[in-house]
Amino acid sequence: MDVWWLALVLTTVTAPAVSLGADRDEPEELERFEFLETHMGSAFKLVVYCTGPAPASAAARSAFDRIAQLDATLSDYRVDSELSRLGDRAGGPPIPVSADLFEVLRRSRELSERSDGAFDATINPVVKLWRRARRNRELPSPEQLDQARSRVDWRRLELDPDARTARLASEGMRLDVGGIAKGYASDAALKVLREAGITRALVAGAGDIVVGDPPPGRSGWLVGIAPLDPSGPPERYVLLANQAVSTSGDAERFVEIDGVRYSHIVDPRTGLGLTSRSSVTVVAPDGTTSDSLATAASVLGPDRGLHLIEQIEGAEALFVSIPDGADAPEVASTPGFDALLAEPEGEPGPVPALGGPEA
Ligand code: AMP
Ligand code: MG
Repeated sequence: MDVWWLALVLTTVTAPAVSLGADRDEPEELERFEFLETHMGSAFKLVVYCTGPAPASAAARSAFDRIAQLDATLSDYRVDSELSRLGDRAGGPPIPVSADLFEVLRRSRELSERSDGAFDATINPVVKLWRRARRNRELPSPEQLDQARSRVDWRRLELDPDARTARLASEGMRLDVGGIAKGYASDAALKVLREAGITRALVAGAGDIVVGDPPPGRSGWLVGIAPLDPSGPPERYVLLANQAVSTSGDAERFVEIDGVRYSHIVDPRTGLGLTSRSSVTVVAPDGTTSDSLATAASVLGPDRGLHLIEQIEGAEALFVSIPDGADAPEVASTPGFDALLAEPEGEPGPVPALGGPEA
């Protein structure tokens, strides 16, 4: 099973907590509820503080339905998704697209520009080769890689915000938004919970976690950062409110061929799965930003990756990597990252890892 995750340690409130109602003066009893469903090939977990089981379940249902709708829109595994159908029309005229697909493509393209192409939503032809390599444990041939790489180019993803159309300019191009979609879906699910009146909530799509207001009586949600070897306990924790955190790396999803370990994250310049071991954790104002930046920074490496993140308002990152030839991990972070760290005082041990198989 492929699993990739941020170990999630939740601050617990054992008894129903008391907090003030948002727009009433009398105190309101809030209970903690958890829900788990699989979407986008990953375990999605919701933690909500709510007045009772019925409204909590109803809100969770709506949030999961929204994630399922985004999966149906953004999946590159489903031939009938809106994203796949856009790929079917590559080389043709511009196609009107939904607001969700347009926004994910707009944010992807913006990051492609900022990361000098390290993040590239047109990476699908190359990623497909590596998925096959994982199944067969056999490297793609140089010819196959060249051919696939010639079909990858974020500049040939054309977007028109006024007409809300998208176009892949050359035949054979295909999209893969796996590096940003779980963060976008987690943001969207948190919005649904807020609209249902639940502000104290957490949405975790495997390694992409988005949080709203803190649990009652707490100043934030305590999230454990998975170490490079995710079977170990978290070595660091961050305390977050109305923020998001994502971890990207090769911890569990990789293929080893002839003694070389290739990550599921691909460097668009070479077409190769990343071979240097790393785990990048990004905190940002929203999950769309943290998810996509974590993937981009993985490709860029510690120096350029952290430099990119320093340019982004409200974003901080921790980069743990094992440089080629070294055996001990090196740790680097943006200047503001340490201020997010917290100790799990009096908290129970880590809850089981989140995660799930990729479809
Ligand atoms: P994440 O787990 O968020 O880092 O995303 C990894 C996924 O992003 C992979 O499984 C691919 O679907 C996709 N991906 C791989 N390489 C890239 C890249 N260079 N740019 C954008 N997406 C990528
Ligand atoms: Mg990502």
